[in-house]
Amino acid sequence: MIATSVRERLAPALLTEGPLGLLIGGSWEPARSGKVAPTTDPTTGQVLAEVAVAGPEDVDRAVAAARRAFESPSWSALAPQERGRLLLQVADVLEEHAEELAVLDSLDMGGALVTMRWLAGQCVDVLRHYAGWPTKIYGQAAPSEPSKLHYVLREPLGVVAAITAWNGPLQQLVWKIGAALATGNTVVAKPALWSPLSAIRLGQLLAETDLPPGVVNIVTGDGGTTGEALISHPGVDKISFTGSLATGRHIQETAARDLKRVTLELGGKSPTIVFDDADLDAAAKTAVAGFAMGSGQGCVAGSRILVQETIYDRFRELLVEEMGNYVAGDPFEPDTMMGPLAAPEHYARVSEWIEVAREEGATVTRAADWEPDGRFIPPTLLENVDPEMRSVREEIFGPVSALMSFTDVEDAIDRGNDTDYGLSASVWTREIGRINRVVRGLRAGTVWVNTFGDMSTGTVPFGGFKGSGIGREHGTDVLDAYTEAKTVMINT
Ligand code: NAD
Repeated sequence: MIATSVRERLAPALLTEGPLGLLIGGSWEPARSGKVAPTTDPTTGQVLAEVAVAGPEDVDRAVAAARRAFESPSWSALAPQERGRLLLQVADVLEEHAEELAVLDSLDMGGALVTMRWLAGQCVDVLRHYAGWPTKIYGQAAPSEPSKLHYVLREPLGVVAAITAWNGPLQQLVWKIGAALATGNTVVAKPALWSPLSAIRLGQLLAETDLPPGVVNIVTGDGGTTGEALISHPGVDKISFTGSLATGRHIQETAARDLKRVTLELGGKSPTIVFDDADLDAAAKTAVAGFAMGSGQGCVAGSRILVQETIYDRFRELLVEEMGNYVAGDPFEPDTMMGPLAAPEHYARVSEWIEVAREEGATVTRAADWEPDGRFIPPTLLENVDPEMRSVREEIFGPVSALMSFTDVEDAIDRGNDTDYGLSASVWTREIGRINRVVRGLRAGTVWVNTFGDMSTGTVPFGGFKGSGIGREHGTDVLDAYTEAKTVMINT
């Protein structure tokens, strides 16, 4: 049932405004072409708002505004204490409006409000984390002859294009803005067209801070028009991208033409690996959340479950039971754990993947016997699969996981690594020797042990091996990713 009254009560004022414009140099403007596109609530099918579709001329102005802000008056040369203070202001304003931003994301892409609140809360901590960096980005003094002085400065890159996917709109944007601003860069952000509202609202809220105009610019639009103009713009120094492997590849190829720096956060086909000595109840509950949270539309989704063969039947039973407990429904109902798929096109794509799995010979078990309504897909398990099937190799990005067995530690590692991706893994065992061997053996950017989905609030690196990306967000890695080293050699 659709909670219309809850929706009406929560719907932010933003949605009552006319077409939403582009944030360029501190002002909101329509696209020069006048083009707009709707963004829709996937739960109700209602159009929430119309947003501007930026063309090359708008992107050009946004990049120019970001360049001006970078150089004069110089964001990059601002005292580090001041940059930190301004980032803290952004964190404060986000905290004050966290509920509103979470609501916008729930409306826009259908994520359960409980999840979107959790992510918005993390964004506040992430920004506060980044506010600490400007005063701690030390260079290095290098050994040299006494008559010389050799040292290394870390300098910002310039204009960063921050391009994000639709599945975690606020979170992905805040990660990129935090990193770019803390290191002295300016930003042109392009949110995904399915869920641009939290980015637009965040842009409006920046006016409540002392952040100089043009430090953050926001251009909405589709990948082919707005995204393409941004990644091929010669005034962009770095592209920080979150999205699919196919787009990531294209971005890297395009960026190579003029050697733009890139950070790519791409997809995954992450394993949940369960050994016979694990806390099976906790493992089953977490494994289901691992592939059903956000309707499985998460880069780290545990879309392959590997179970030690001796406990396969018992664990399968627990999984199916937990799948039945995973409440799907209107994102605004308090007990809802997963909402609809983010768009009817995506519902169709995920449904098609389930058919592909069937055709490949998989047995399909669903938590609920729902009639297809174009919106919700219940947690779904694929069994009797082999690792070469497309449905086991490719990212489905829905609440679907392939269940397979393994024999021992070596087999678990081999099967865990039998993927083109390498974003994350979740390992369940109490035995420290196994933990150590599996952690070392897995080729994945994050390995969770006896847990899943813990997200640092900036403190540890996040990113992928292999097809899951290039570079890392967060941790100290991010400082190198958003700065250049300048070596200085003085002869005194
Ligand atoms: P997508 O690659 O289609 O789009 C991502 C963004 O890129 C959108 O803003 C889109 O408009 C833009 N884009 C598309 N084509 C472009 C082009 N030619 N030039 C420039 N920009 C372009 O991905 P999606 O469907 O929005 O998101 C789902 C994917 O994102 C999944 O693969 C998922 O695993 C991945 N993802 C990864 C992470 C991570 O941190 N590793 C996090 C979330 C999502």
